[in-house]
Amino acid sequence: MDGIKDIRILFKSPNATEESFELKNARGRLIRVEEGIIAIFDEITTTQTADCVRCGKPLTRKIKFKPGEWLFYDKKPRNYDDANELLRIDINRFQIDLGEPIRQEIEMHINPYPHCKKECKKYPPAEKEGVKALSGLKDLLK
Ligand SMILES: [Zn+2]
Repeated sequence: MDGIKDIRILFKSPNATEESFELKNARGRLIRVEEGIIAIFDEITTTQTADCVRCGKPLTRKIKFKPGEWLFYDKKPRNYDDANELLRIDINRFQIDLGEPIRQEIEMHINPYPHCKKECKKYPPAEKEGVKALSGLKDLLK
């Protein structure tokens, strides 16, 4: 996924300067702030292809959502202890990589257990559990 954006001009602009961007599967705005550059995604679209967890039929689902904001720091902030979430501006090339936040947003929004909309044939494990839970409930209500 190519999400490399050149931010040479934006980076040298005063704080609150805004610039819009459009990628193949995402669009939004970049805003210059004191700490670096904020990427605000207005929309991300992607297609999830996976097999139904019940019957194994291949499914294709289009996903479209409104994601959040991501801050790219120009330098590592002091007292920052969560290295996983730290996004950095490539100061040498004046670039940011929007691919990483997009990947994380998609991971957060895809359904980890996709299944057919209508009930499909092989559906034993979840149903059994449901019955068990219900009979447990009956005991409680007695
Ligand atoms: Zn199915």
